[in-house]
Amino acid sequence: MVGPEIERLIQLLARLPGLGPRSARRAALLLMKRRDGLLVPLSEAMALAAEAVRTCSVCGNLDTRDPCTVCADPSRDRSTICVVEDAGDLWALERSRAFTGLYHVLGGTLSALQGIGPDDLTIAALVDRARNPEVREVILALNATVDGQTTAHVVTDRLAQADVAISRLAHGVPVGGELDYLDDGTLTAALKARRPL
Ligand code: ZN
Repeated sequence: MVGPEIERLIQLLARLPGLGPRSARRAALLLMKRRDGLLVPLSEAMALAAEAVRTCSVCGNLDTRDPCTVCADPSRDRSTICVVEDAGDLWALERSRAFTGLYHVLGGTLSALQGIGPDDLTIAALVDRARNPEVREVILALNATVDGQTTAHVVTDRLAQADVAISRLAHGVPVGGELDYLDDGTLTAALKARRPL
């Protein structure tokens, strides 16, 4: 029905979150109809982003600079580190504007099923950061899934090597819920009502 270039575009679009094959076809069609106004600028923006994207060597956030915009911001409170599974969770917390400290992206959760152990996550780097005397509190903002909570236990154990208070988000957060899906008010409340561990 379409040439291989378009077929490839549809297949790639279908991998995006929230897009199945049907929506991917519709998106591809729209892009082709608006070649100059949308397709060309989008492809240029994607090429630039692909060139510029960096993983922050401090916290693991995705940005176009390293250290990332959050880590490099002198107005952030350096005494508090909020631990999240994924950069998407960091972005959700930033959107809520509820948190003014620094972050640490673990890069996933422990999972026996998927063979993900502590060394596959950035737990050791977190412990190193937490040992800095400047750091006084680590907030665990991990998802309320079984894997998220298992991860929280292991991180708490490892952080015993550092002299920091450890707290976790008040849940508020639904079981199996992901931070990214929470509205800003719920996130803000969960952060404010965080509990010491
Ligand atoms: Zn960073």
